[in-house]
Amino acid sequence: MDRVGIPHMTPDEFRKRGRQVIDWIAAYMERVEDYPVLSQVEPGDVRAALAEHPPATGQDFDLVMADLDGVVMPGITHWQSPGFHAFFNANASGPAILGDLVSSGLGVQGMLWATSPACTELETHVMDWLAEMLDLPETFSSSGPGGGVIQDSASSATLTAVIAAREKATGGTTNHTGNLGNLIAYTSAEAHSSIEKAIRVAGIGADNLRSIEVDEAFAMRPAALEEAIRKDLAAGRRPFFVCATVGTTSSTAIDPVRDIGEICRRYGLWLHVDAALAGTAALLPGMRWIHDGLELSDSYVFNPHKWMLTNFDCSAFFVADRAALISALSVLPEYLRNKASASGTVIDYRDWQIPLGRRFRALKLWFVIRHYGVEGLQAFVEEHLRLTRLFASWVENADNFELAAPAPVNLVCFRHPGGDAVNRRILDNLNASGDVYLSHTRLDGKLTLRLAIGQTHTAERHVRRAWELIQAAATA
Ligand SMILES: *Cc1c(COP(=O)(O)O)cnc(C)c1O
Repeated sequence: MDRVGIPHMTPDEFRKRGRQVIDWIAAYMERVEDYPVLSQVEPGDVRAALAEHPPATGQDFDLVMADLDGVVMPGITHWQSPGFHAFFNANASGPAILGDLVSSGLGVQGMLWATSPACTELETHVMDWLAEMLDLPETFSSSGPGGGVIQDSASSATLTAVIAAREKATGGTTNHTGNLGNLIAYTSAEAHSSIEKAIRVAGIGADNLRSIEVDEAFAMRPAALEEAIRKDLAAGRRPFFVCATVGTTSSTAIDPVRDIGEICRRYGLWLHVDAALAGTAALLPGMRWIHDGLELSDSYVFNPHKWMLTNFDCSAFFVADRAALISALSVLPEYLRNKASASGTVIDYRDWQIPLGRRFRALKLWFVIRHYGVEGLQAFVEEHLRLTRLFASWVENADNFELAAPAPVNLVCFRHPGGDAVNRRILDNLNASGDVYLSHTRLDGKLTLRLAIGQTHTAERHVRRAWELIQAAATA
C-alpha cells in the first residue's frame, strides 16, 4: 500500500511474483502434454466458477494464481500441446514470450516515431530482416518505396490492403466523398473468410466480391479470373482488387501468383497476396517457388504467429508502395503534430494500420530471430515439412484413408472413403480422446479431416501417435 492507499505492486514484489509466474509457465511447458488438448468444459462452466462481483479491495496474488489453476486451466484448449493439429497452429516459444514480457514491461505505445523511436526503428529493421529471410522481392524492403509493418492479424492487414487499393483506384477521392462507385474485388472460392470481411468493412459490399473458381488442386484458375474481370468491365463496373492465396486455410492450395499478377498488371488491379500460414515455408530456399511472381504484387501478408515461433499476435504486412497506404490512412490532428514527423525523415506506423495505438511487437520477433538464428528457424520448418510428407505417405498407403488434396506445406487433408458420417464420427472420437485435436473442412463437397503439423514441439512420435489414434478411431 503506498502513501495514498493505492496497492501498487512494488518492484520487489514484482520480482518475487514475476519469478513465480515464470516458474508457473515453465512448469506448464513441461506438463502441457498431460492435459487433454481440447478443453472438456461445458458452456458456462468457467463463468460459474468465477466470483460474481469484482473484489472491493485488492486480493492476495496467491489467490489469483490458485484460480488460474482451478478455474482458468480447465477451460484452456492447449494450443501449445504437440498434439494440437487443428486449424493452423499458433505456436509460441520461450524467446517470444520473453520479448512480449519486455514489451509489457516497457508499456510503450508506438503510434509515432517520436513516441518511442526504438519501437519504430526496430520494427522497420526486423521487417527488412524478414524480407531478406524469405527472399521477398526488393519492392517490399524499406530502402525503396515500399516497406513492412507488423499488424495484429492477417485480417487487419488484408483490410488495410483493401483500403489502400480502394483509395488508389479512386484517385484518392473515396476518403473524402465516401463515393465508392462500382468497385469490384476478386478472390478464389477457397480464400479465407477475412477477405470477405475486409470487403464488407471497407464498404465495397460482399456482392461486389467475385468468387473465382478453383482447379482440381483448389488453386485459383487465372483464366476464370480474367473472364470475370472482362465481364465486369464490359458491364461498366470497376475491377480494383485481387487477393491471391498462398496456402489456403482449407487445404494449403497455392494460387498461381505469377499468372494472377500478370492479369492484375494488364488491367491495373491491386494484387494482395495472403500467405498467412504458408509464407514461413519460404525460409527454405527449396520452398520459395510458393512466392513465384510475388514481385508483381502490391501487398503481401504472412503470420509469424502461425508457424514462426512468435507468439500471437504478429502478422507481417508488406507493401510495394507505402505512399498509397499512407495517403489512404493518414489523418493528422493538431495533437499528433511533431517535429520528427514534419521532417519527413521518420516512419509513423499509425499511418500503416487501422488503429492509432500500437504495441511494441517487434521485440518478440527480434528475440525469436536472434535466439534461433535463420538456420534454427529453417531446421524447425524443414522438420515439419518432413513430418507432413511422412504422414501423407501413411495416408496414401493405407487402404482405409485417402488424401483429399495435395499437401505442399504442413497440412494433410484426408478422409475415410465411408462418407461424411463416418468421418464425423472419427473426428469426434479423436477429439474426445484428449490426446489430439484435429479439425475439419469440406473439399469437393465432402467432409475432410485436416492434420496441421506446426506446433513448436511436435515431433515424429506425436505424429505417429496421432496416426495410431486415427486408425483406432476408424476401426472402432
Ligand atoms: C489464418 C489465416 C488468415 C487469418 O489470419 P488472422 O491473423 O487470424 O487474421 C487469413 N488467411 C489465411 C490464408 C489464413 O490461413
